Amino acid sequence: EEWKDKGAAVSLRREVDAEGRTVIKSVKKGVRDFSFGRILGEGSYSTVYFATDRQTLREYAIKVLEKKHIIKEKKIKYVNIEKNTLNRLTDHPGIVRLYYTFQDEASLYYVLDLCNGGELLGVLKKTGTFDVECTRFYGAQILDAIAYMHSRGVIHRDLKPENVLLDDQMHVKITDFGTAKLLPDPREPRPPEDSNQGGMSDGQKATSFVGTAEYVSPELLTDKSAGKPSDLWAFGCIIYQLLVGRPPFKGATEYLTFQRIVALDYEFPPGFPPAARDLVERCLVLDPNRRLTVEHIKNHEFFDGQQFGKELWRMKAPRLR
Ligand code: ATP
Repeated sequence: EEWKDKGAAVSLRREVDAEGRTVIKSVKKGVRDFSFGRILGEGSYSTVYFATDRQTLREYAIKVLEKKHIIKEKKIKYVNIEKNTLNRLTDHPGIVRLYYTFQDEASLYYVLDLCNGGELLGVLKKTGTFDVECTRFYGAQILDAIAYMHSRGVIHRDLKPENVLLDDQMHVKITDFGTAKLLPDPREPRPPEDSNQGGMSDGQKATSFVGTAEYVSPELLTDKSAGKPSDLWAFGCIIYQLLVGRPPFKGATEYLTFQRIVALDYEFPPGFPPAARDLVERCLVLDPNRRLTVEHIKNHEFFDGQQFGKELWRMKAPRLR
């Protein structure tokens, strides 16, 4: 029951029947339709493989989750959140797309966009820091993807450079929706009394405590609540990290990191670009209601002249430096 496959993806297959007529059959994709290659990475509950669709030769990343392990570790909820969230976010180049899901007795399989460029964190570690041009480009792509997921009623809640993957064009694909919060889908009809469009109304508040210490928003620590503004706090942390090489709040322990966050205890190193400083200062605001929104950030001087939307995803990624 828990693994029930709702809305399973199918592919159409052309076949010739016994009378020699061509018929189109709808076939659900399964493990046998893919040839599995090298391991791309491993998570606590999963192994991600390079794979090729035997029919189309299209390349994918397939995430394999062992059912026994997930049940033992009580992660069924997170596995389902990830799938349901990805199924809502199939229409943006900046989000890892889920094409098919299927299962066998032992495992669950998620067929995903292949991200050959690795994690943004890995790329940043190689260069140490990004210059303003790179920070603007990657910042813009991350922001555009956040705008899309928020418009679909999804709060990520764990944005960080490890969860920003890069494809073969070195364009952003956001991943790891296992701890996301699904708000009522804005495209679905809603009861008339639920008219609040903002980020933090009671109906939209996400209550569970999730995330990564360095990027956790102060409201999650003090009120145990996270809304759309919490993702923009993390966005501010990421912009700072791209330019400096380390996140703004980092203590020797998680507890000390949390103390720094709620005290807004961070500093800009000398030479930090002034427009970026102003942007970060307006994202790293303790009161989530006073933080910049996605639209404010797009119009901030740091992004002066920057394209968003379709044009942004046609751009060539800048050389990393
Ligand atoms: P944990 O569950 O421990 O937090 P995780 O969330 O990184 O780890 P996965 O999402 O299963 O776990 O990813 C495991 C590794 O596989 C990641 O480190 C990532 O580098 C790689 N990976 C994940 N998705 C893709 C993809 N679509 N394309 C290429 N590599 C991927």
